[in-house]
Amino acid sequence: MQEFPRLYVGGEWVEPSSSERIDIVNAATEQVMGQVPAGGAADVDRAVAAARAACADWAATPLTERLAALGRIGEGIMARNDELAQAVVGEVGTPSMIAPMLQTGLAAVVFGDNATLAPTIEMEATVGGTLTVKEPIGVVAAITPWNFPLVQIAVKVAPALAMGCTVIVKPSEYAPLTAFMLAEIVDEAGLPPGVFNLVSGDGATAGESLVAHRDVDMVSFTGSTATGRRISSVAASTVKKVTLELGGKSPLIVLEGAPLADAVAAAVQGCYINCGQMCTASTRLLVPEAQLGEAAATAAAIAESLAVGDPAAPETVIGPLVNARQRDRVRDYIRSGIEEGATLVTGGVEPPDGLDTGYFVRPTVFSDVTMEMRIAREEIFGPVLAIIGYSDTDDAVRIANDSDYGLAAMVFGEPDEAMAVARKLRAGWLVINGADQSFTAPYGGYKQSGLGKELGVAGLEEYLEQKAIHV
Ligand code: NDP
Repeated sequence: MQEFPRLYVGGEWVEPSSSERIDIVNAATEQVMGQVPAGGAADVDRAVAAARAACADWAATPLTERLAALGRIGEGIMARNDELAQAVVGEVGTPSMIAPMLQTGLAAVVFGDNATLAPTIEMEATVGGTLTVKEPIGVVAAITPWNFPLVQIAVKVAPALAMGCTVIVKPSEYAPLTAFMLAEIVDEAGLPPGVFNLVSGDGATAGESLVAHRDVDMVSFTGSTATGRRISSVAASTVKKVTLELGGKSPLIVLEGAPLADAVAAAVQGCYINCGQMCTASTRLLVPEAQLGEAAATAAAIAESLAVGDPAAPETVIGPLVNARQRDRVRDYIRSGIEEGATLVTGGVEPPDGLDTGYFVRPTVFSDVTMEMRIAREEIFGPVLAIIGYSDTDDAVRIANDSDYGLAAMVFGEPDEAMAVARKLRAGWLVINGADQSFTAPYGGYKQSGLGKELGVAGLEEYLEQKAIHV
C-alpha cells in the first residue's frame, strides 16, 4: 500500500482541508494499492497562493539555476526509476517490459531535453526600434490524465519551470502515485517553496477550481476532448490561456507496394501499446482494398500471438485497462463494431481466457470497417484495431483526413510518395516508415485533437508572454 496523506504546497507536505481520500486500485488485481487526499477548492486556493507568491523570484532566478534544478529533477527520476515504473505498472497496468522506459525514463529525458532547448530561445529582440521581451506567463495549472501519468506531468512541468513559471499539478485521480513521488523528488532537488505544488483530487472539484481560479494564468491540459471543451469554457470566464492535448483517431496508411507485413506489424504495435491507452495510437489501418484480407489475417496472427496478462510479469505485452469504466467502455465499442457490421477477425467482448479479475480486454481486430462506424470515428482507448480499405492514394488521404481528430498519422511506402502523402494529412505528428520519433520536435494536434504544442522549442514558448516596449 502506498499512502500519501498530505499535499505538497509551498515547499511543504501539508494536511489537506478535508479527511476525504481517493483509493488507488491495481488494474490487474482490482485491489486497493494506494491512497491520496481528495483535495478541494480550499486546497487549490492555498496552492495557487503559494505559486503566486513564488512567481516573481522564480522568474528572476537566472536561467542556468532554473535549468540546473531541472537537471536535478531528471536525475532524481532516474534514481527512482524502478520504483516509479512499478507504481505505473500497478495503477495503469502498463507491462513492466516497457514501463521503465516509456512511462518513467522518458520523463527524465523530457526534463533533460527542456534544459537543453531552453537557452536557444531568444528572450529579447529589437524590431524596428521596438524592444520585444518574452517573459514567463506566471502561475500554471497542469491537469493531467492517467495513461502516461508521469510523462504527461513532465511535458508540462519541465518547460513551465524552465521558462520561469510556477506550477500546480492536478494529476488523474486514477493514477496519481508517481505525481506524489515526483513531489518528493522536487523537494529533494531543493526548489524554492511554491515553485512546484501538487493537489490531488477529482476533476470536477480540484480540477475545475484550478481552471476557474482568477490567479491562475494558464491551464495546460491533457485528456479527453469532452473535458477539454469543458475546461475551455470554464477558463473563458477569466480569459486565461489554455493549451489542450486531446484525443486522436490516428490513421496508419499502407501505400500500394509498401511491405504489408511490416506495416501491419507496426500498426498492431502502435495500436496496442499501453493496451491502446495512448492518444497517438494507430487505431485506423488503411490498406489497398485488394489487400484487406491479407492485412486482416496478418494483424490477427500478431494479435493472437501477444502475451496478455499480469503486467508485472516480464513476458506480458498486453496488460489490463486502467479501470472498470474504461474496460466497459472498450467492450461497448467492440459490441458496436459487431452490431454495425464490421468483420470481427479476432478478439471480442469476452474477457481473455483465465483473466476474469483485472480490467482485461481481448486484443481485437476488425476488418471491413467503414467511416460510418463508431469504431472508425471515436477514440476507443483500448486494444481495438479497425482495418479500412481504400481505392487509391487520394481515397486514402480522404479517409485519413475524414476525422474530427488530427493528432497523428503514420505512412508506409516509397519515401518520396510517403512524404507527399504526409504533407496532405491534417495532423500534427507524422511518422514515415516507422521512423524513430524525436521528443524535441513540437507535439500537438490539429482540429479537435487540441490547441498549442508540447515538447520542443514551441512547447517551451507556450509558457511565455511577449510584450513590446516602444522607446
Ligand atoms: P478526462 O479527460 O476526464 O481526465 C483528464 C484529467 O482532467 C484528469 O486529471 C481529470 O480528473 C481532469 N478533469 C476531468 N474533468 C475536469 C474538469 N471539469 N475540470 C478540470 N479537470 C477535469 O479523461 P478520462 O479519465 O475521463 O478518460 C476518458 C477518455 O478520455 C478516454 O477513454 C480517452 O478516450 C480520453 N483520454 C485521452 C487522453 C489523451 O492523452 N489524449 C488521456 C486520457 C483520456 P479526474 O479524472 O482525476 O477526475
